[in-house]
Amino acid sequence: MSLVVQKFGGTSVADSQKILAAARKAIRTQQAGNQVLMVVSAMGKNTDVLVDLAAEITDRPPAREMDMLLSTGEQVSVALMAMAIQSLGAKAISLTGGQIGIRTDSTHTKARIKSISTERMRSLLDEGYIVIAAGFQGIDEDLNITTLGRGGSDTTAVALAAVLDADTCEIYTDVDGVYTTDPRLLPAARKMRQVSYDEMLELSSLGAGVMHSRAIEFGKKFAVPIHVRSSFTDIPGTMIVADPEAPDLSVSGAALVKDEALVTLSGVPDTPGTSLTLFSKIASRAVAVDMIVQNVGAAGLADISFTVPRDDLRATREAVEEARVELGAARCIERDDVSKVSVVGLGMARQTGVADRMFRALAEAGVNILMIATSEIKISVLVNRDQGADALRAVHRAFVLEREPAQKVASATSAKLAQSDALEIVAHLQGMEDLTITEVALDESQARVTIAGVPDRPGIAARVFEGIAAGGQFVDMIVQSIGHEEQASMSFTVPRGDLDKAMALVTGLAKELGCGAVSGSPRIAKLSVSGVGLRSHTDVAIRMFRALAGAGINVEMINTSEVRVNVVVDGKQGPPGLKALQAAFADVLG
Ligand code: ADP
Ligand code: ASP
Ligand code: MG
Repeated sequence: MSLVVQKFGGTSVADSQKILAAARKAIRTQQAGNQVLMVVSAMGKNTDVLVDLAAEITDRPPAREMDMLLSTGEQVSVALMAMAIQSLGAKAISLTGGQIGIRTDSTHTKARIKSISTERMRSLLDEGYIVIAAGFQGIDEDLNITTLGRGGSDTTAVALAAVLDADTCEIYTDVDGVYTTDPRLLPAARKMRQVSYDEMLELSSLGAGVMHSRAIEFGKKFAVPIHVRSSFTDIPGTMIVADPEAPDLSVSGAALVKDEALVTLSGVPDTPGTSLTLFSKIASRAVAVDMIVQNVGAAGLADISFTVPRDDLRATREAVEEARVELGAARCIERDDVSKVSVVGLGMARQTGVADRMFRALAEAGVNILMIATSEIKISVLVNRDQGADALRAVHRAFVLEREPAQKVASATSAKLAQSDALEIVAHLQGMEDLTITEVALDESQARVTIAGVPDRPGIAARVFEGIAAGGQFVDMIVQSIGHEEQASMSFTVPRGDLDKAMALVTGLAKELGCGAVSGSPRIAKLSVSGVGLRSHTDVAIRMFRALAGAGINVEMINTSEVRVNVVVDGKQGPPGLKALQAAFADVLG
């Protein structure tokens, strides 16, 4: 008999009528011959109400008590759902995270799942019950209640689908699928028929709140087909599977994180180990850092800029201040009025002219780019918050995301992995959300170009990368730091053979645009670590920094995505760097 996991989000269970409607859906699915496991979120905005209540009591609620409080939201809805199903004549039972045996670590409010016991759920399903699991919660080793982070019921659903080897995991929500960008921000957004795990992982972690990014990590790791659809209609939604909708598309979606904060630690001695000191202090507070840009400044002093979610600014500030004192850095500057706009697409890795198109669109919309960070499958820019929505609209239009792609891959099948035995074994392993690293690699084929003194005004990045694209050159990593004292610096990598051409081109352009000196290095090495969910596993970058610092290697550039962390180091340091990383990740190399 097939097993279907159905997850209902807050708006889908916002009142008693909606709970009854969801109950009928589950019963219909059972009557069609399936076993049904429901995962339910707190009703409506109940979690927000609880967060606000805590804030009325104290501005520093203890994380353990926060979890105790927030978990009650889901407990209300599972109980009501079980009553609803029973009142409609079917068998149902509600279970909390603890009753199911969802074991997590003890990182309150952001816990990770370690293991899930399946026995109780299985026997209840076999007895004909619709099992209703409380989303978003678990228990740690000492039976403390934990929660998985806001939006975490998606992760509960996909994790349960994975351990139970479900045929499909349906995510019922208030939109009818995954769109090219948030349809509430941009009505022109188009519903996708299908999106790949890698793209969705990146989109979710860059602001597409329709799915919790860690749910997609589970989906990818355990090959769970995820169907995002409306709880109010029966039309098919969007399948999240291994293949993208249209493999040739350079960009398939765009996302906005409205409330981002930017932190710069400036005047940092440019020696091995500084990144490690800084980012390990931040990671120990479970804050995920994004858009890390390091600049080598004058007199051997560097600036390190990075972004964090605005809600994490307070914890970040404490960490940065500790690091500032320890490193003897000059000062720490922060801004909490910035937004991050990103485009994502698997096809980007194979095409030229993607970055310049994005930068041109922003320039034409009069948007100033504060920072740039790219990876193989995404480009993110940081902009002033009041320009965030305009920036999103401009890039969505520039890549004509509202248009149906001409060439689509064949429709996704919802076939699950044939290896149920393998999944069964994995399910009983500890550390379900543990790090999976697939590869540690060295790329010695790239060279670096750096433009100093980039003026803080719209249109510079557009001109530079249009020039490069017009020359048919392929640009890999791009980073631009914050326009600090009216000046930013911009670095990018090109194939080594293209360095002279790129330097000549950029030197001319830099003069014309009023930038400072252009420098280039033919001897760089790019070291990368690939895996799943790397950005939310904050310790990946830290382990890399630790390994490199231990080998006395200085990091020149960094970029991160959910599937890879890259660092650029001096060319001579490539092979020893690779060795250091291989040793550092030996225990988790899959
Ligand atoms: P639920 O309570 O069901 O989990 P969420 O509010 O977490 O629902 O997620 C659904 C919301 O996600 C939508 O209402 C939509 O505004 C937002 N969203 C953000 N990005 C996207 C996107 N790319 N596609 C669809 N919805 C999106
Ligand atoms: N109720 C939790 C929240 O609002 C979890 C969820 O809905 O996914 O974040
Ligand atoms: Mg959600």
